[in-house]
Amino acid sequence: MKNELITYEKLEKIINTYIKDKDSLNLIRKSYDLANRLHDGQKRRTGEDYITHPLSVAEILTTIKADKETLCAAILHDVLEDCDITKEELEKEFGHTIASLVDGVTKINNINVSTENDYLTNYYKKIIVGISEDVRVIIIKLADRLHNMRTLYAIPIERQKLKAKETLEILAPIAHRLGMHKIKSELEDLSLRYLKPEVYYDIVEKLNNKKVEREEYVSKMMEEVSKLLKANNIKHEIKGRAKSIYSIYKKLDKGKQFSNIYDLLAIRILVNKEQECYLALGLIHSKYKPMAKRFKDYIAMPKTNLYQSLHTTVFGLDGHLFEIQIRTFDMDEYAENGVASHWAYKEGKDGAIAMQNITEKKLQFYKSIIELNEDKMSAKEFVASVKDEVLNNNIYVYTPKGDVIELAKGATPIDFAYKVHSKVGDTTTGAIVNDLIVPLSYELKNGDIVKIITNKSSQGPSREWLNIAKTTQAKNKIKNFFNKTSKEEYITLGKEELEKELRRNKISITEFTKQKNINEILKTNKLESLDDLYFNIGNNKISAKALIKQEQPKEEQPKKVEHIISTENDILVGNIPSIQTHIANCCLPVPGDNIVGYITRGNGVSIHKMSCQNINHEDDRIISAKWNNKTKNKYESDLVIYTNTKDNILFDIVQTASNLAIQVENISTLGKETGTIYSVTALVNNLDELNKLILSYEHLTKIIRVERINK
Ligand code: MN
Repeated sequence: MKNELITYEKLEKIINTYIKDKDSLNLIRKSYDLANRLHDGQKRRTGEDYITHPLSVAEILTTIKADKETLCAAILHDVLEDCDITKEELEKEFGHTIASLVDGVTKINNINVSTENDYLTNYYKKIIVGISEDVRVIIIKLADRLHNMRTLYAIPIERQKLKAKETLEILAPIAHRLGMHKIKSELEDLSLRYLKPEVYYDIVEKLNNKKVEREEYVSKMMEEVSKLLKANNIKHEIKGRAKSIYSIYKKLDKGKQFSNIYDLLAIRILVNKEQECYLALGLIHSKYKPMAKRFKDYIAMPKTNLYQSLHTTVFGLDGHLFEIQIRTFDMDEYAENGVASHWAYKEGKDGAIAMQNITEKKLQFYKSIIELNEDKMSAKEFVASVKDEVLNNNIYVYTPKGDVIELAKGATPIDFAYKVHSKVGDTTTGAIVNDLIVPLSYELKNGDIVKIITNKSSQGPSREWLNIAKTTQAKNKIKNFFNKTSKEEYITLGKEELEKELRRNKISITEFTKQKNINEILKTNKLESLDDLYFNIGNNKISAKALIKQEQPKEEQPKKVEHIISTENDILVGNIPSIQTHIANCCLPVPGDNIVGYITRGNGVSIHKMSCQNINHEDDRIISAKWNNKTKNKYESDLVIYTNTKDNILFDIVQTASNLAIQVENISTLGKETGTIYSVTALVNNLDELNKLILSYEHLTKIIRVERINK
């Protein structure tokens, strides 16, 4: 489609695959009629009619199932700038939302300043205003830039480089923060093509050289993995996956050799449920040796743009390294389209609201930018901070609970503390990084686990910290501490505290602070105003936790998959040379357990543990049984694992088993007391192996106790 000239008829056909109602389709057609009339006679630099540009932008947006308002605004996005029409007239024809979206996109485009610095400052500011007013403005802008990048060949080389640089520094990082991987990736590849054509084409050529060979490996590996999953009843889809040229460039740039970039051979597995991700991982690690330190659990610990997936690299077919991603279909939709994935789930207004909510409440970059924007600093400082500390040059460190915190390169524990919460920052007395006490000036590195030691009666930050902190955000908060009157400070603290608690409970801030709800809260707590409420939370008179009723949704219990194990030749019963046996479901003996047989009516002999409660040893039908010296099959064993954490430790459970080459066949959550309790079914060769597994589990600090179940 990319090279074929777009027409409205073609576009409408695509739109019609997911927007069905007549009114919406009529409105979109109306926006086309107007745009077509207004752009009549205008040409693009490529020589095509101008209208092909807005139509192409709309077409890009259909790939992420954009709603009707976004499509209308995309088709109209250049009319305010290039044609003779006002925002008021647009509003009369198309309503407030569409007119505002068009106006928002126009404002970003329309920057008339002389110096590059002024230009950038305004550009950033407008993008930020755009995101906070309606994130759809930025999504249209990203699609607009994508189409312009696709047709960049038509402009002079100097301008090509400028646009490509700007795309790489601002728009691609924003797409990345919004989780819009597909668009981000194409923007990056196109930018590289114009910024460093020699490098770009060199990578393309190298990729093409071995393409056939690579694809063959990938498809064979996919077949093998698919068989493995099928044999274990895990419904899935599996795809080969091409690395983006830009990501290869980044690795080469870091000094890697082309031949050493393992993720050139890459597959992706999609399953229905989160637990199946871990099961699939366990199966794969049992069959293919994983490469040390290459697996990452972004499901339990999502990236800061909310990306979720399991990543691992294994020695696959013929010893070739394969990078494997495992995630659910929902996670995949988010991984490709980020916040825009909400269009695919919810129609119309709800999708737009969900997108805005996620952006404002869950994306760390949004909060950072808004905070910077609120601080009084020069425009130049603002741009430098957003560009260098928020959108680029980041490191990712963890809280002791495993939450990821995004910081600027060079950040110290002070920056970390203030990023978590101003209150934490203000009461910091020390820091522990990866279990070692470090000075507050310690430079944090990717992957560090940071624990801040606080003291509630602390007098507040020291002025010296202004020299230690790296980020503008932390510095501003330290300055604020010294500047603010205490009342104001408590209000801000309280607001932050409440918002954090709401986020933690996945409650929309807008919903919670609706006048009706707030009035009730004020009444019950005998308060005058919202600021009053914040003030009381800020100085700890009211607990934000208590304000929010916790309603945890119940987890769905997965059905246990019936697994029939062949015991052929593994068990000797009495003196009978060959008799049909099966493992009793009540006690699940494994080789090494003392066993006994029970002659059933018409179903051969069932094999129980000698200690099984269901066995009456006086019974006539009891018959002696023992394991063969060398058993061949693997046997199920059910374990109950008691943990001291509510964090998801599915990964540790599967990985610990994988390290012993033991396959975990099923995991489910039994309940939550002080910590989550898991039920795990492992397939083991014998009792020794099972005991080793139990021991390894008990060595994990998060696991308190492991029980083998006798039903
Ligand atoms: Mn445009």
